[in-house]
Amino acid sequence: MEAQVKLSDGMSPYEVALLQFDRAVERMQLRKGVVKMMRQCKRELTVTFPVLMDDGEVEMFTGYRVHHSTVRGPTKGGIRYHPDVNLDEIRALAMWMTWKCAVVNVPYGGAKGGVVVDPKKLSRRELERLTRRYATEISILIGPDSDIPAPDVNTDPQIMAWIMDTYSMHVGYSVPAVVTGKPELIGGSAGRGSATGRSVHYCTVRAMEHLGLPLRRARVLIQGFGNVGSWAATLLHESGCLIVGVSDSRGGIYNPNGLDPKAVLAHKQRTGSVLDYPEADNVPHEEFMGLPCEVLVPAALEMSIRTQEAQKIQARLIVEGANGPTTPAADEILAQKEIFVVPDILANSGGVVVSYFEWVQDIQRLFWTETEIERRLQGLLDRAFAEVMDTARKEGVSMRTAATMVAVKRVHDATLLRGIYP
Ligand code: GLU
Repeated sequence: MEAQVKLSDGMSPYEVALLQFDRAVERMQLRKGVVKMMRQCKRELTVTFPVLMDDGEVEMFTGYRVHHSTVRGPTKGGIRYHPDVNLDEIRALAMWMTWKCAVVNVPYGGAKGGVVVDPKKLSRRELERLTRRYATEISILIGPDSDIPAPDVNTDPQIMAWIMDTYSMHVGYSVPAVVTGKPELIGGSAGRGSATGRSVHYCTVRAMEHLGLPLRRARVLIQGFGNVGSWAATLLHESGCLIVGVSDSRGGIYNPNGLDPKAVLAHKQRTGSVLDYPEADNVPHEEFMGLPCEVLVPAALEMSIRTQEAQKIQARLIVEGANGPTTPAADEILAQKEIFVVPDILANSGGVVVSYFEWVQDIQRLFWTETEIERRLQGLLDRAFAEVMDTARKEGVSMRTAATMVAVKRVHDATLLRGIYP
């Protein structure tokens, strides 16, 4: 069956998401109609809206909010600001959110949103006006019981604060639970900032154990140095790994003796890029992923590991911090090279897990310590990782297909329990 599918690097993110889904489903006994239902997104909103720019001109922007599934609960998923955002990509990301929430068993369906914009080209005031207007445009969907956004690529706690405030102003009282990833002062959770990096770290530790490889002095490459990449680097560095290379949208840096992630982050904050870090050599994008290492963490955008990269990769283990970083064609090559891949929906699930904790705390108006958050996160990851490993072993499939199988089964069974309305 797999051989019949024409794999190419040119597939769109949604085509990739569907292919991964179909691969999981073909090994399962499921109701056909429910499979058809799960292949589609439940609702898709496209908004075009004006923003007053600082020079007095009005610019038009396009944004999206897509709900893939509401079967297991309210929808959950981030909002990204990026010039390449498009509906196909948001659909894929929404579907992956459904599987991610299901694989770690948090009671949500999947959603995603985005605005087509390069936020680096906006002033802070423009960014705030764009955010408040977009939040207003999608307010027909979002709410603490219906759809709860969070940060994603190029969005952060300040942007979540503006969304929370905008929604609260509309209803006339404060609703912290409408969004997660907020600053702690207004109902955010301890440990949310580091949470995605923490699950990448956790999966790296568990996978290295499985492979029988030592973590100490394991060489790690981190592609992408935003929230996820920088936290993963910091935590892995603390566990004794050597962070030999990191990259961002402008290129990479490499030092075979290891880098101090905190110092690299300070350099990036100062100069806008990791490039020209004094204690490393600059490396062009084309060479970065082929550098010698044991662990590679893609933590940037979708489709960054294609055929070309997969052929060059020397890592024994790939832990996907980003959503959808590996094309199916590349996946095939990685499998042939016997590189162990911990898939995105498991490896980066820490973000949505701690988002869930934030939402629960907001609703209860009762807040937990960071130690408590980490303990609970670890508990959920322990269970999910073991379940996915077990499924992979029993079914003889990759960790990606196993994770999707565990998730799809939960959504499928929940659909049957709820029944088809009316
Ligand atoms: N944007 C993150 C993700 O892709 C977090 C989503 C959330 O916390 O709702 O998983």
